This record gives sequence, C-alpha cells and structure tokens, in this order.
Amino acid sequence: MPEKKIIVAIDGYSSCGKSTMAKALAKSLEYIYVDSGAMYRAVTLYSMEHNMWQNGKPLLEPLRSAMESIDIFFRRDENGELRTMLNGRDVEDDIRTMAVSELVSPISTIDFVRSKLTSLQQSFGKTRGIVMDGRDIGSTVFPDAELKVFVVCSPEERARRRYKELLAKGEQTDFETVLHNVQERDRIDSTRAISPLTKAEDAIELDNSSLTIEEQNALLLSLAQDRIRGNN
Ligand code: C5P
Repeated sequence: MPEKKIIVAIDGYSSCGKSTMAKALAKSLEYIYVDSGAMYRAVTLYSMEHNMWQNGKPLLEPLRSAMESIDIFFRRDENGELRTMLNGRDVEDDIRTMAVSELVSPISTIDFVRSKLTSLQQSFGKTRGIVMDGRDIGSTVFPDAELKVFVVCSPEERARRRYKELLAKGEQTDFETVLHNVQERDRIDSTRAISPLTKAEDAIELDNSSLTIEEQNALLLSLAQDRIRGNN
C-alpha cells in the first residue's frame, strides 16, 4: 500500500525559523513546500511598485481590482532553491527587504487579500503531501492538517537571527530596527480581525529558542512520521 500523504501546517511568530524547518521536512518527506508569507510579501511588493499607498495606508480599491490579475507561484532554480514568482517575474530577493517587511502586516489584514491567498494555498494542498508555513495554516487554511506545529521563540533571539540574515544579504539596518519590526508584526498579526495568528487547539507547541537546527529538524521529522503511520 502506498504511504499515506499528510498535510503539515507550521505556524508561529515572525522569524522563528519556520521556513527553515518546513523546507527541511518537505525535503526529507519528498513533499511540496509552500511559504505562505512569501505570497503576502509578493502582494505587498506589488502594492508598493504600483503606488497603492497613501498616508501610510494601502489604497483598497486599486488593490482589490489588481488582485484579479496578480499571479503568484513558486519555481525551483538551478540549485533547487524555491523562488517566488510574481506575474512571471522572480521577486524572491525583492520581497525579503526591510521595506517589504515594514508594510506586509497591514496588507495581510485585508479581507480580499486573505481570501484570494487562502484559496490559492488550499489549491496547492489538494493532493496532500505538503508542508506549509505561515500564521493561519493550521487554524484557517488547513484546519484538517494531520500535523500542526506552533513555533515559539523569544523576540530577541528572532531579531538576532533576522538581523544576521539581512546583514549577510548586504542590507543596511540595525538590530533595534529589526527587533521593532519583529515585535510590531507580532502585534498586528495577533490582533487582526481575520485569521489572527493563534495556536490551533490541536497544534503542538515547539519552542526552538535553545534547539539546534538539527535537533528541531529531527523532532519535526519524528512527529510527521508518527502521523504518517497513523499514530498521534
Ligand atoms: O512568514 P513571513 O514573516 O515572511 O510573513 C510575512 C508576513 O505575512 C507576516 O508578518 C504576516 O503579516 C503575513 N502572513 C500572514 N499569514 C500567513 C503568512 C504570513 O498574515 N499565513
């Protein structure tokens, strides 16, 4: 009998290593990996490039009309790395800047943005065999996921990791700005009206503040294998 394919939902706060662990798990299981945050970032980049901001607020009507024609998908490059594509253009680097991080949480509170991206994410999981990370994957996108993990880590540790990543990419920023951004995104993501960041009732909490990447990957793989075998 072929092995059962499951859905793994990984949610949690900003920059707590969700995508690193989700990618590693998808690779071990030979599943699809989807970074749902990249999709919100791509819509944010689109709104910035099309001047859909006024007085620090997104312009809803032009964005609503544009959502019809926004096409987001993922492509693997020659090194096997996933790249986010927005209307056929590779935006993987552009969506990771601080400028996008500053505006993505307000964009993510908008109902028509969430409903379009949620349907797209659900379509990716139709045949199961998928690992998706984000904020509302276990609660809204795949409430029937066999494995739900909610990742937590201290804001300082998360900002430290993110700051290191940005420096490595050559972005000029300082630790305080990154820490403030992480805390502000946590605040907006957890208090928004639609699909706020919350731990699903049946999610397993994983605090990775003091785990190495190898330890967290091994833990996650063993949880997933249990669910594939039908154990809890
Ligand atoms: O995961 P990442 O930090 O790249 O996500 C960027 C932002 O996208 C989050 O801060 C959040 O505002 C939004 N997001 C969301 N729902 C998801 C994934 C991301 O609202 N499922």
